[in-house]
Amino acid sequence: MSSVSVPPPKCLQKPLSVPHRHMFGPGPSNVPPRILEAGANPVIGHMHPEIFEIMSDIKSGVQYMFQTQNSMTLAVSGTGHTAMECAIFNTVEPGENVLTAVNGIWGERAAEMAERIGARINTIVAPPGGFFTNVEIEQALSKYRPVLFFLAHGESSTGVLHPLDGIGQLCHKYNCLFLVDSVASMGGAPLYMDQQGIDILYTGSQKVLNAPPGTAPISFSERACQKIFNRRTKPVSFFLDLSCLVSCRQELIITSHHYISNSVAEYFHAGLESMGLKLFVKEKKARLPTVTTIVAPHGYDWKEITTYIMKTHNLEISGGLGPSVGMVLRVGLMGCNSSKANVDMVLAALKDALKHCHKSKV
Ligand code: PMP
Repeated sequence: MSSVSVPPPKCLQKPLSVPHRHMFGPGPSNVPPRILEAGANPVIGHMHPEIFEIMSDIKSGVQYMFQTQNSMTLAVSGTGHTAMECAIFNTVEPGENVLTAVNGIWGERAAEMAERIGARINTIVAPPGGFFTNVEIEQALSKYRPVLFFLAHGESSTGVLHPLDGIGQLCHKYNCLFLVDSVASMGGAPLYMDQQGIDILYTGSQKVLNAPPGTAPISFSERACQKIFNRRTKPVSFFLDLSCLVSCRQELIITSHHYISNSVAEYFHAGLESMGLKLFVKEKKARLPTVTTIVAPHGYDWKEITTYIMKTHNLEISGGLGPSVGMVLRVGLMGCNSSKANVDMVLAALKDALKHCHKSKV
């Protein structure tokens, strides 16, 4: 005998209700109506001719956004983490050397992913808020001889925008692939994949691109493809295996949207400083325009500030992540959120929070 013993849940019988919020944390950002409407299009078969045309248009869009001619350019289904794993799982085999630049959480995470597939991990480490010179990078490349070097262009945990010029050439000198994470920077800071000698570049959809999470644009250079298609072993993931994708898994490529932003970061930074707040990244040129890190105001509990702003202003900003926890507040102004009016809104919310949150005497 069989009968339904779990009744239909009451919570699913009422309409879904999601509040409107100002999404000014390090992501997700707000999704504008044009993009929400695109998501309401009918679903059609993944082998229908219209889908091939849409996929080809997406590829052209990603090539433009990344400034690359690479034919291995697509969007994987998943968040930024999926693209990270797609990049690492396809290009690295067990026992190979990988080098990651750790100046926040993302270099650590890339190292962890490579470690899980049996690679040998080497790191260069800078304190939170810091970055690496090309001399330091070359020393590490020559010492460890990695097959892959990972660098986060926009280190969203600390607010650092890493300089890229010359690093691709260094990697190629040591026969190493250059992998760049642009999840937090793409569309908000200049990046030129081909000109900068980047072999693998990926981003995510829910930050500057102002789309829902779940689509990760990624591109592989000819050098990266050579490495991928001459592997001795199969990648551990079937879902993310690019050689399989090329032959049979076209459906992995899905819709993505692009929205370029004009950063208003400088206006924001000046406003913060005029309020007496300090920016966490000392060097101006190393400040990530999309995610601003503010030194956690002295005498306050950062959590009380973010909670107060959410409750009183219906506005999300966040605390630190990984090595920056407790040290910073993080504000993201991405894509359509990147406007002077929104900067003024955040500054007013911060002012209000500093007035009303508890401040210790010290
Ligand atoms: N890299 C960076 C620099 C990020 O900021 C993030 C998201 N915070 C990721 C990777 C991971 O992306 P996702 O959350 O979409 O998986």
